[in-house]
Amino acid sequence: MKNVNAYAAKSNDADLEPFDIERREILADDVKIEIDYCGVCHSDIHQVRNDWGNSKYPVVPGHEIVGRVTEVGKDVKNYKKGDLVGVGCMVDSCQECDSCKEDLEQYCENGMVATYNGKDEHLGGHTFGGYSEMIVVKEKFVLKVPENLDTKAVAPLLCAGITTWSPLRQWNVKKGDKVGVVGLGGLGHMGVKFAHALGAHVVMITTSPGKAEDAKRLGADAVLISKNEEDMKKHQGTFDFILNTVPVGHDTNPYIGLLKRDATMTLVGAIDEVDIHGGGLVMGRKRLAGSLIGGIKETQEMLDFCGEHNIVSDIEMIDIQNINEAYERVVNSDVKYRFVIDMKSIKN
Ligand code: NAP
Ligand code: ZN
Repeated sequence: MKNVNAYAAKSNDADLEPFDIERREILADDVKIEIDYCGVCHSDIHQVRNDWGNSKYPVVPGHEIVGRVTEVGKDVKNYKKGDLVGVGCMVDSCQECDSCKEDLEQYCENGMVATYNGKDEHLGGHTFGGYSEMIVVKEKFVLKVPENLDTKAVAPLLCAGITTWSPLRQWNVKKGDKVGVVGLGGLGHMGVKFAHALGAHVVMITTSPGKAEDAKRLGADAVLISKNEEDMKKHQGTFDFILNTVPVGHDTNPYIGLLKRDATMTLVGAIDEVDIHGGGLVMGRKRLAGSLIGGIKETQEMLDFCGEHNIVSDIEMIDIQNINEAYERVVNSDVKYRFVIDMKSIKN
């Protein structure tokens, strides 16, 4: 299918602009989706600007996709025309390696196919993401979206949601734990909501005093301003778990100082060099870890949990024509707390 409307960046210093893409004709196990909404992840900006050095242009970002099924291939079992569905950060993986067999496709040992900037086995070149009017995705990588939730506020669950849910579950966050979430942006605000829903005592660790009230409304029990050394000292050695969403390389030592003996801080944001002093870990048998999105099974579990507990993202809606201004606000830590694109605006 040619001439599908999309938005792309053609180089690392170019704005996003209208761009026509091609999508494959549906195969037997494919689902064709008309995209209603797409969230704006900070990763979209990293990729557009080539912050990680692996971008392929033109970049059509977008991996927080929600829409309706318009057509299914003949072997598709779980979806039919009209179903409300989601697509996250992956559209394929080998299905054969140990990670895939353990429902951890994000760690596919042969490389998962990212929703954008992945290798497109069908059309050649690289994959194009959700800043577009439609997408064709293998059934296995399509998620069911609970119908009771506000659809547009569901979109960010497909990346920001699962990326925070997965480490909270992996490190067994439970009732009564003191949990820190570093950075109140797209990921951080979902981290706060989930940690709160799991019964933890949640501390928002932020550089922005102006976000304190919002943090509490989102479910934080307390707010710690990371630039305030006095406050940081008071919380030394008291956290059971810290989820760190800082989007750039940074000095992790002040945060590691907040952990109790044997506690873990998991990085999800800094896919980058970070500063770490070994002594900070050694002296308290502490752990620094990382985590990448979540598998398809776990993503479905997260969506179902959100359906049951009525959890969605706090969003600001934009038309695709305003995407470049939205990027500037995200980079300036001024998003409340996820931009979502009304994808119907692409036809304007
Ligand atoms: P975001 O909306 O921009 O939020 C990041 C927040 O971090 C900011 O709002 C700010 O919060 C804080 N922050 C920013 N710069 C900081 C600095 N230099 N030092 C300390 N805090 C800082 O970004 P996001 O969409 O949540 O994404 C966060 C990161 O996760 C990005 O790098 C993204 O690429 C990555 N990511 C990773 C995965 C994964 O699977 N691991 C998945 C999705 C995204 P305060 O104002 O509260 O300080
Ligand atoms: Zn993302």
